[in-house]
Amino acid sequence: MWQERLGQLVTTCHWIGAKGWAPATGGNMSVRQDAQWCWLSESGRDKGSLTGEDFLQVDIATNQAPSGRKPSAETGLHTLVYRLFPEANVVLHVHTVNATVLSRIEKSATLNISGYEMQKTLTGQQSHLDTVPIAIFDNDQDIDALAKRIEQYAQDNPLNYGFLLRGHGLTCWGKDVNEARRQLEGLEFLFECEMQRRLYQRD
Ligand SMILES: [Zn+2]
Repeated sequence: MWQERLGQLVTTCHWIGAKGWAPATGGNMSVRQDAQWCWLSESGRDKGSLTGEDFLQVDIATNQAPSGRKPSAETGLHTLVYRLFPEANVVLHVHTVNATVLSRIEKSATLNISGYEMQKTLTGQQSHLDTVPIAIFDNDQDIDALAKRIEQYAQDNPLNYGFLLRGHGLTCWGKDVNEARRQLEGLEFLFECEMQRRLYQRD
Protein backbone atom coordinates (compact mmCIF):
# COMPACT_ATOMS: atom_id res chain seq x y z
CA MET A 1 0.00 0.00 0.00
CA TRP A 2 2.58 2.57 1.11
CA GLN A 3 4.95 1.40 -1.66
CA GLU A 4 2.28 2.29 -4.20
CA ARG A 5 1.76 5.60 -2.40
CA LEU A 6 5.49 6.31 -2.60
CA GLY A 7 5.39 5.73 -6.35
CA GLN A 8 2.53 8.20 -6.67
CA LEU A 9 4.43 10.69 -4.52
CA VAL A 10 7.48 10.47 -6.81
CA THR A 11 5.23 11.38 -9.76
CA THR A 12 3.77 14.26 -7.72
CA CYS A 13 7.28 15.50 -6.84
CA HIS A 14 8.08 15.71 -10.57
CA TRP A 15 4.87 17.72 -11.07
CA ILE A 16 5.84 20.03 -8.17
CA GLY A 17 9.30 20.42 -9.68
CA ALA A 18 7.83 21.30 -13.07
CA LYS A 19 5.56 23.90 -11.43
CA GLY A 20 8.62 25.57 -9.87
CA TRP A 21 7.17 25.10 -6.39
CA ALA A 22 10.33 23.64 -4.85
CA PRO A 23 13.16 25.62 -6.47
CA ALA A 24 16.87 25.02 -5.88
CA THR A 25 16.32 21.65 -4.10
CA GLY A 26 14.04 23.30 -1.52
CA GLY A 27 10.89 21.69 -0.15
CA ASN A 28 10.35 18.15 1.02
CA MET A 29 7.68 15.47 0.70
CA SER A 30 6.75 12.33 2.61
CA VAL A 31 4.37 9.40 2.86
CA ARG A 32 3.35 7.46 5.94
CA GLN A 33 4.25 3.76 6.05
CA ASP A 34 2.34 2.96 9.27
CA ALA A 35 1.90 4.33 12.81
CA GLN A 36 5.67 4.27 13.42
CA TRP A 37 7.38 5.04 10.13
CA CYS A 38 7.25 7.51 7.28
CA TRP A 39 9.41 7.95 4.16
CA LEU A 40 10.84 11.41 3.60
CA SER A 41 12.76 12.95 0.72
CA GLU A 42 16.50 13.23 1.36
CA SER A 43 18.06 16.63 1.89
CA GLY A 44 19.38 18.52 -1.13
CA ARG A 45 17.61 16.54 -3.88
CA ASP A 46 15.99 18.21 -6.87
CA LYS A 47 12.26 17.45 -6.61
CA GLY A 48 11.89 17.43 -10.38
CA SER A 49 14.07 14.32 -10.73
CA LEU A 50 13.49 12.40 -7.49
CA THR A 51 13.24 8.61 -7.50
CA GLY A 52 12.02 6.22 -4.81
CA GLU A 53 15.70 5.79 -3.80
CA ASP A 54 15.81 9.40 -2.64
CA PHE A 55 13.39 8.74 0.23
CA LEU A 56 14.55 7.75 3.73
CA GLN A 57 12.65 5.79 6.31
CA VAL A 58 12.17 8.01 9.39
CA ASP A 59 10.78 7.20 12.83
CA ILE A 60 7.69 9.37 13.41
CA ALA A 61 8.27 9.54 17.17
CA THR A 62 12.00 10.34 17.18
CA ASN A 63 12.83 11.80 13.70
CA GLN A 64 15.69 9.30 13.46
CA ALA A 65 16.58 7.61 10.16
CA PRO A 66 17.88 4.05 10.75
CA SER A 67 19.85 4.16 7.47
CA GLY A 68 22.15 6.83 8.87
CA ARG A 69 21.49 9.01 5.83
CA LYS A 70 20.51 12.61 6.48
CA PRO A 71 16.79 13.35 6.34
CA SER A 72 15.63 16.86 5.53
CA ALA A 73 16.20 19.56 8.14
CA GLU A 74 12.41 19.97 8.17
CA THR A 75 11.72 16.34 9.08
CA GLY A 76 10.20 17.45 12.39
CA LEU A 77 7.35 19.22 10.62
CA HIS A 78 6.37 16.08 8.69
CA THR A 79 6.47 13.82 11.73
CA LEU A 80 4.46 16.42 13.68
CA VAL A 81 1.67 16.26 11.07
CA TYR A 82 1.66 12.44 11.25
CA ARG A 83 1.46 12.58 15.05
CA LEU A 84 -1.27 15.24 15.11
CA PHE A 85 -3.42 13.73 12.36
CA PRO A 86 -3.64 9.92 12.27
CA GLU A 87 -5.65 10.18 9.04
CA ALA A 88 -2.83 12.07 7.24
CA ASN A 89 -0.77 9.76 5.02
CA VAL A 90 0.98 12.27 2.76
CA VAL A 91 2.71 15.58 3.60
CA LEU A 92 3.90 18.10 1.01
CA HIS A 93 6.10 21.06 1.94
CA VAL A 94 6.77 23.59 -0.83
CA HIS A 95 8.48 26.96 -1.23
CA THR A 96 6.16 28.70 -3.66
CA VAL A 97 6.44 32.44 -4.37
CA ASN A 98 2.81 33.01 -3.38
CA ALA A 99 3.09 31.18 -0.05
CA THR A 100 6.39 32.92 0.69
CA VAL A 101 5.22 36.46 -0.09
CA LEU A 102 1.59 36.28 1.07
CA SER A 103 2.67 34.98 4.49
CA ARG A 104 4.75 38.16 4.84
CA ILE A 105 2.11 40.56 3.54
CA GLU A 106 -0.43 39.12 5.98
CA LYS A 107 0.85 40.34 9.35
CA SER A 108 -1.64 38.51 11.56
CA ALA A 109 -1.44 34.87 12.68
CA THR A 110 -4.10 33.72 10.23
CA LEU A 111 -4.71 34.13 6.53
CA ASN A 112 -8.50 34.17 6.08
CA ILE A 113 -9.64 33.07 2.65
CA SER A 114 -13.24 33.74 1.59
CA GLY A 115 -15.28 34.60 -1.47
CA TYR A 116 -13.62 32.15 -3.86
CA GLU A 117 -15.42 29.32 -5.62
CA MET A 118 -12.13 27.38 -5.61
CA GLN A 119 -12.34 27.03 -1.83
CA LYS A 120 -14.55 24.05 -2.62
CA THR A 121 -11.52 22.11 -3.88
CA LEU A 122 -10.50 21.84 -0.20
CA THR A 123 -11.96 18.76 1.50
CA GLY A 124 -15.22 19.54 3.30
CA GLN A 125 -15.67 23.08 1.97
CA GLN A 126 -19.14 23.66 0.52
CA SER A 127 -19.40 27.36 -0.21
CA HIS A 128 -17.47 30.41 -1.30
CA LEU A 129 -19.30 32.26 1.51
CA ASP A 130 -17.41 30.39 4.25
CA THR A 131 -14.08 31.58 5.61
CA VAL A 132 -11.12 29.20 5.45
CA PRO A 133 -8.50 30.15 8.05
CA ILE A 134 -4.92 29.14 7.24
CA ALA A 135 -2.57 29.51 10.21
CA ILE A 136 0.71 31.38 9.73
CA PHE A 137 3.63 30.63 12.02
CA ASP A 138 6.73 32.79 12.24
CA ASN A 139 9.63 30.98 10.64
CA ASP A 140 12.36 29.49 12.81
CA GLN A 141 15.63 27.67 12.04
CA ASP A 142 15.04 25.69 15.22
CA ILE A 143 12.61 23.13 13.80
CA ASP A 144 11.99 21.49 17.18
CA ALA A 145 10.90 24.83 18.65
CA LEU A 146 8.78 25.57 15.59
CA ALA A 147 7.11 22.15 15.75
CA LYS A 148 6.36 22.72 19.43
CA ARG A 149 4.66 26.06 18.69
CA ILE A 150 2.55 24.46 15.96
CA GLU A 151 1.62 21.57 18.25
CA GLN A 152 0.51 23.98 20.98
CA TYR A 153 -1.56 25.98 18.50
CA ALA A 154 -3.23 22.80 17.23
CA GLN A 155 -4.35 21.89 20.74
CA ASP A 156 -6.70 24.90 20.84
CA ASN A 157 -7.37 25.66 17.17
CA PRO A 158 -8.42 23.71 14.12
CA LEU A 159 -5.54 23.12 11.74
CA ASN A 160 -7.08 22.07 8.45
CA TYR A 161 -5.40 21.39 5.10
CA GLY A 162 -2.09 23.00 5.94
CA PHE A 163 -0.18 25.91 7.47
CA LEU A 164 2.10 28.68 6.26
CA LEU A 165 5.56 29.45 7.56
CA ARG A 166 6.16 33.18 7.26
CA GLY A 167 8.53 34.06 4.43
CA HIS A 168 9.17 30.36 3.93
CA GLY A 169 6.38 28.28 2.39
CA LEU A 170 3.42 25.97 2.78
CA THR A 171 3.03 22.57 4.42
CA CYS A 172 -0.14 20.66 3.55
CA TRP A 173 -1.36 17.09 3.79
CA GLY A 174 -4.01 14.58 2.84
CA LYS A 175 -5.22 11.04 3.41
CA ASP A 176 -3.62 10.01 0.12
CA VAL A 177 -1.43 11.51 -2.61
CA ASN A 178 -4.41 12.67 -4.66
CA GLU A 179 -5.96 14.55 -1.77
CA ALA A 180 -2.66 16.15 -0.68
CA ARG A 181 -1.96 17.19 -4.26
CA ARG A 182 -5.46 18.67 -4.66
CA GLN A 183 -5.12 20.63 -1.39
CA LEU A 184 -1.72 21.92 -2.54
CA GLU A 185 -2.97 22.99 -5.96
CA GLY A 186 -6.17 24.46 -4.49
CA LEU A 187 -4.37 26.42 -1.78
CA GLU A 188 -1.72 27.65 -4.20
CA PHE A 189 -4.46 28.87 -6.57
CA LEU A 190 -6.21 30.67 -3.67
CA PHE A 191 -2.91 32.24 -2.56
CA GLU A 192 -2.32 33.48 -6.10
CA CYS A 193 -5.84 34.98 -6.20
CA GLU A 194 -5.34 36.61 -2.81
CA MET A 195 -2.00 38.07 -3.91
CA GLN A 196 -3.59 39.53 -7.04
CA ARG A 197 -6.60 40.86 -5.11
CA ARG A 198 -4.37 42.60 -2.60
CA LEU A 199 -2.35 44.16 -5.40
CA TYR A 200 -5.43 45.75 -6.95
CA GLN A 201 -7.87 46.19 -4.10
CA ARG A 202 -6.97 48.02 -0.96
CA ASP A 203 -9.60 47.29 1.67
ZN1 LIG B 1 11.06 24.64 3.79
